[in-house]
Amino acid sequence: MTSVPEPKVSDLAELKRRLHQVSDLSAAAGLMSWDQETQMPPDAARVRGLQMATLAGLSHELFTAPRMNELLAQAEPGSDETDAALLRVTRRDHARATRLPTEFVEERARASSEAHHAWIDARKDNDFAHFAPHLEKMMDLARRYADLQGFDDHPYDALLDDYEPGMKVSQVRAIFADLRDRTLPLLRRIVAAGDATDYSVLSRPFPAAAQRQFGLKIAGEAFGLNPSFSRLDESAHPFQTNFSRDDIRVTTRFDERYFPMSLFGTWHETGHAMYEHGISARLERTPLSRGASLGVHESQSRMFENLLGRSRPFWQRHFAEFAQAAPEVARGQDAESLYRAVNRVRPDLIRVEADEVTYNFHIMLRFELELALLEGTLAVRDLPEAWNARMGEFLGVTPPDDTRGVLQDIHWSAGLIGYFPTYTLGNLLSVQLLEAAKGDAGIAEEVERAEYSRLRGWLVQNVHRYGRSRTPHEITVGATGKPLGADAYVKYLEDKYSDIYGLS
Ligand code: ZN
Repeated sequence: MTSVPEPKVSDLAELKRRLHQVSDLSAAAGLMSWDQETQMPPDAARVRGLQMATLAGLSHELFTAPRMNELLAQAEPGSDETDAALLRVTRRDHARATRLPTEFVEERARASSEAHHAWIDARKDNDFAHFAPHLEKMMDLARRYADLQGFDDHPYDALLDDYEPGMKVSQVRAIFADLRDRTLPLLRRIVAAGDATDYSVLSRPFPAAAQRQFGLKIAGEAFGLNPSFSRLDESAHPFQTNFSRDDIRVTTRFDERYFPMSLFGTWHETGHAMYEHGISARLERTPLSRGASLGVHESQSRMFENLLGRSRPFWQRHFAEFAQAAPEVARGQDAESLYRAVNRVRPDLIRVEADEVTYNFHIMLRFELELALLEGTLAVRDLPEAWNARMGEFLGVTPPDDTRGVLQDIHWSAGLIGYFPTYTLGNLLSVQLLEAAKGDAGIAEEVERAEYSRLRGWLVQNVHRYGRSRTPHEITVGATGKPLGADAYVKYLEDKYSDIYGLS
């Protein structure tokens, strides 16, 4: 009798099996984290932290195990494009993960936990000096991180690469300079024009339950968020997370005296959610099953929140329903007055509350300061002064204290350096994508009626389905025919706000 040989599992198949395990562990940790932000009783925090650390450790161990090295070296993708992308992206992630010595990872985790607590206290007491040594430490760790990862031109490239793969600091500099030079004059003209819109409608009462119902209904009808694969909860800081493309969690927060926060916040996170939901099922449970970058992700959230949710056709279409949900807000108003109210341009101190015109200046300021800190041309102790000077230069406002100035964002305390530019890159891409989609006359005509089913199909086809199997640059060029730039965004702002503010 001849024995039947064991069927040999290919290296690629075994690699995928292990990647599925890594992904499942991350999903479990993610679910715990979502629960922590939305449902968990407060006393559970201590043990929950340990449990999540265990899962993160197991997932890291699996991903960096010696067997993974062999599989990544030996696996052959064959002729399948998706398999080739899986190998390329996994090798890249693996190289980036294994270049960091364990001691460095531990030191960084400790330092950022300390920095985070110091930041909370510094913010509460308006005491930048209390945070300064921690920020110095985070900058030092960022420089060492860049050295460990390696870079050609600038250490910032190594940081940026985590959030916006392939993007270089030289490109960001050029795009931002162009954007700044072309939108600062527009901002000056808007501020000079002033206007007669009644913004007090934004702070009229709108009960949280009704906000939730209206926000969610529109998220479903207009943007496709369906309860069969998603749910909406409340959290202190809104976010989107998911554990598969069919298990998506969106959060929001409510202010009964400022409804734009929850409505636009919900639609923003819906944009993130629909991106994740649109990723091809073939990529499920692999490193490819995520957005291509933070910038591409933000382009989707900003499109729903701003380009669609703050558009005139949108308010024309939904005003009657809005008036039913929020009769006190809508009293004496019409679609046009509400459209103008939710598009107020006002140079102000806080990034997360900024409008479409001023928002990018908050980002450009942070980008310049991060570069200067990293290069060592700006000392941490001089940061508040540099911050305030640029706020004056860009927006004509001076923070009365550091809490509303340099201490307002969580990012630096968490070691997220190189992250900020992706917000503006996302804004720019949102318009570039929408303009490209509207090259299809059917889509353009639907968008004019605030109907988005064909646009959503276009986004799935040209952006979502690829996940990380294409780079942000490949997605941008493939969908819009050109690399990312400021042109489309500048034109969008000029058209929209010249009309609203009656600029000639
Ligand atoms: Zn976002």
